[in-house]
Amino acid sequence: MDDSNKTRDDTALSHRRGPSNRRRASNSEPIDRVDTVLFDLDGTVCEYERSPGEVLGAAFDRAGVEPFFDVTAYYDRFGAFVDESEDIAALRRNCFVDIANERGRDPALGRAVAEAFASERDHARVIFVDGAGDVLTHLDGQGYGLGLVTNGPPGTQRTKLDSLGVTDRFETAVFAGHETPSKPHPEPFTRALDTLGAQPGQTLFVGDSLDSDIAGAQKIGMQTAWVTGDNTESTGAGGGEVSPGFVLESTGDLRAVLSGPDQ
Ligand SMILES: [Mg+2]
Repeated sequence: MDDSNKTRDDTALSHRRGPSNRRRASNSEPIDRVDTVLFDLDGTVCEYERSPGEVLGAAFDRAGVEPFFDVTAYYDRFGAFVDESEDIAALRRNCFVDIANERGRDPALGRAVAEAFASERDHARVIFVDGAGDVLTHLDGQGYGLGLVTNGPPGTQRTKLDSLGVTDRFETAVFAGHETPSKPHPEPFTRALDTLGAQPGQTLFVGDSLDSDIAGAQKIGMQTAWVTGDNTESTGAGGGEVSPGFVLESTGDLRAVLSGPDQ
């Protein structure tokens, strides 16, 4: 499983690295020449109602297992198992079994908690990230072409879109890692552009991951807006070559930089 291909238990896993000393959204700096906006889904448009920590707690309850690790221990192992795990359920199971082994517990307990976690995680229980629902309505009304390019299984991701009521907002949706290679591979981006008949230079990609969203979109010449969420730190850990055109604290800030499509 590709690191960028996980349907994340928490959008916080992917966000929050990289430079923040870029241009920030402001009314005085509209993005020009954009007629199409492509969005990432997880962490950019929506997030789960319940945090991974809450779901993990519920999973221990459901499995009838006394809690023996927290969500931090789980995240600490993500990198070690991501390549060998075929999907998020396998990744979770591998992590939980490893934690059980390390802590002298029966590995079966790790597997049981992982299964319970999958049962507790309801993909319909998602909410818009700050301002995202309103901004989609606004951009749609202004006449922008809108599309979605997400790393994740079609069934899971469509459940989220349906639950949010925004399935029809997007003229195209590419489920990368399934229909195409995962972002940052160029193919999911170019597929969305081709379907919309859009030019990369006149398209803005909006995403919360520097590594998969911004790096991938930039590589094919798209304009980019990185949504940082509540991260305000500038660590530079995202790699010097990834340099988002705009840094937005929230997806809702798009309203300030997109003043209407140039037709
Ligand atoms: Mg994301």
